Amino acid sequence: MAEFDYDLFVIGAGSGGVRASRVAASHGARVAVAEEYRIGGTCVIRGCVPKKLLVYGSHFAEELQDAAHYGWTVQGMSFDWNVLRDTVLRDVDRLEAAYISTLDNNKVDHFHERAVVTGPQTVTLASGREVRAKTILIAVGAWPVMPDFAGNELCITSNEVFHLPSLPRRVVIQGAGYIAMEFAGIFNALGCHVTVVNRSETVLRGYDASLRDRLLQITMARGIEYKFNSPLTKVEQQADGSLMVTAGDHDPFGADVVLVATGRRPKTAGLGLERAGIVLGEGGEIPVDSFSKTSCDSIYAVGDVTDRVQLTPIAIREGHAFADTVFGGTPRATDYEAIPSAVFSQPPLASVGLTESQAREKLAGAVKIFTADFRPMKNVFAGRPERGLYKLVIDESTDKVIGVHMIGPEAPEILQAVAIAVRAGLTKADFDATVALHPSMSEELVLMR
Ligand code: NDP
Repeated sequence: MAEFDYDLFVIGAGSGGVRASRVAASHGARVAVAEEYRIGGTCVIRGCVPKKLLVYGSHFAEELQDAAHYGWTVQGMSFDWNVLRDTVLRDVDRLEAAYISTLDNNKVDHFHERAVVTGPQTVTLASGREVRAKTILIAVGAWPVMPDFAGNELCITSNEVFHLPSLPRRVVIQGAGYIAMEFAGIFNALGCHVTVVNRSETVLRGYDASLRDRLLQITMARGIEYKFNSPLTKVEQQADGSLMVTAGDHDPFGADVVLVATGRRPKTAGLGLERAGIVLGEGGEIPVDSFSKTSCDSIYAVGDVTDRVQLTPIAIREGHAFADTVFGGTPRATDYEAIPSAVFSQPPLASVGLTESQAREKLAGAVKIFTADFRPMKNVFAGRPERGLYKLVIDESTDKVIGVHMIGPEAPEILQAVAIAVRAGLTKADFDATVALHPSMSEELVLMR
């Protein structure tokens, strides 16, 4: 009898776990993965992918409105939430099937049940079966945080928002981070009244202040209401089924759905890691070294469960690097420099490198800032007052572009390419020497003087 059932047993078939499984298998390892919910994980099943489809779906409201300026007559325009929701959920099914095929094609066994660690090289499945593996990878991701307040059981999180039985008339969103700002944009565009309530007085902490101000201005003009310094304290059900919400010192106000988006915590509860001697961090995260190895030599962890950077492409890179390191004979660590990120708010914003305030602090003020504050041609033509804002942060001593921050139509699509320049250490002079691509919004990046 072989000493181990598998060379690698992965717990969690999300972005990081599936990538690690398939790459380890391609290096010749015998691999199995266990998933208690659906293959694909947060990003595919109830995160990035269905969210982006809802952003696309809701964006038609703006496009159809603007179409009149271009000579189109759109008659009998109406929107059916059930159609969008069901089409999105069908696409999620399609993607889940594609992920399962990837595992099958790479001869990775998959168990559709919960698995917990019962020793440094053993996991036990919900069915009671014990599996021995030479290496275990934990890739179970994170789970929405639900703050403690009266009536929080009446609220939903991003897990449930994709399944709403109907489009709510009034949506209250607690939190002002990624999920809150993206869903505020979606529901606002679909015609719901949106109120964002946050415990502090800021949105999107961590993004450049100029972009955050611009997003706030534009979204307020679009009708989103904000209540700052006002965490939710109570949610009550009314006789008619609607909700009554109390936030901060404000008078209670009505809502049909309350979405709580107050961060995501590593999903390590009950995973049995203590049985392998692993001590969790303060937020429940699994501490790992730069090769994603835990304090137990046979157990590794990647993705949101390690709480390094909670982004899908990072989990994928960590999973890939782990598989190459342990099974491919090419040890490598993930590089966290100049990670581009975006918020698919409406308008979207995107960013890479240091913000203006981070740069001023790090370089003791030796920073040059260039901005382009412009009204995109398509907005001018459609009579939309909304302006885009691009900002370049330059290290004055080297002329290197160390930060690019953008808000405006298609900002994430444009920023991906600019991130290459920032990573490559290009200078403002390199940007200036690049001929503008006219007419485009992105030409602003090379025209700032
Ligand atoms: P974020 O960390 O982005 O935002 C959390 C928000 O909730 C903040 O506004 C914060 O307030 C507030 N908050 C935090 N804790 C509490 C609390 N206990 N009570 C009340 N308010 C609180 O989290 P999200 O849930 O929006 O998203 C989770 C993660 O998912 C993100 O960190 C991101 O990595 C990922 N994600 C990425 C996306 C993308 O790349 N486009 C899209 C969606 C999610 P304040 O900061 O003011 O203190």
